[in-house]
Amino acid sequence: MTGFQDIHVPVQTGKPQLGISMLVEITPAMPGIELALAYATPENLTGQPIYRRAGCYLHADAVPLLARAAVLAQPLGYRLKIFDAFRPVEAQWALWNAFPIPGFVSDPRTGSVPHCRGVAVDLTLIDFQGQELDMGTGFDDPSAKSWHGDTEVSTEAQRNRYILLGIMSAAGWDFYAREWWHYQLFQPRRYPVLSDSVLASGLMPPAGG
Ligand SMILES: [Zn+2]
Repeated sequence: MTGFQDIHVPVQTGKPQLGISMLVEITPAMPGIELALAYATPENLTGQPIYRRAGCYLHADAVPLLARAAVLAQPLGYRLKIFDAFRPVEAQWALWNAFPIPGFVSDPRTGSVPHCRGVAVDLTLIDFQGQELDMGTGFDDPSAKSWHGDTEVSTEAQRNRYILLGIMSAAGWDFYAREWWHYQLFQPRRYPVLSDSVLASGLMPPAGG
């Protein structure tokens, strides 16, 4: 099982079709947003880049909610730092093949892949100096310390997680109990799973390259 063709849910492929895939690029020009796409660097679970470039995309429905979160964070002295957003289903296969751990990495065949639908974002809070707030664990730490409500991490980290949870919830996002950094739109299965080929310039390296 190495190809996205094996997925048991429909995958949308092909060149961008306006009004269907509806992915919008998120850039640092967006107020209150900083990009640090972990899968475009070796700083991720697999120890090597999965994306060939640091492109950040979300479904058009998710963009106003991200902007709203940035607006809510601003008076508190924070900005949003994004680790991942739209993840082509090919990238989900790369993660699943490296870490087939249900509950931590989603098996692409289940269709439980909100990032592949463009409606999930992984992020943290940074201050105006660009320093990440202490969240107790790093992004993608698979331990139970990453769960919301974990009391093993410092009270400072707990407080910071609740600030992020409050900002994102107030902006209209749903959360995932086992990852403090992950937020997604409610009812993500309303949106299709997308292949890298829907992007005019894809995130994935050429096959076999
Ligand atoms: Zn996530």
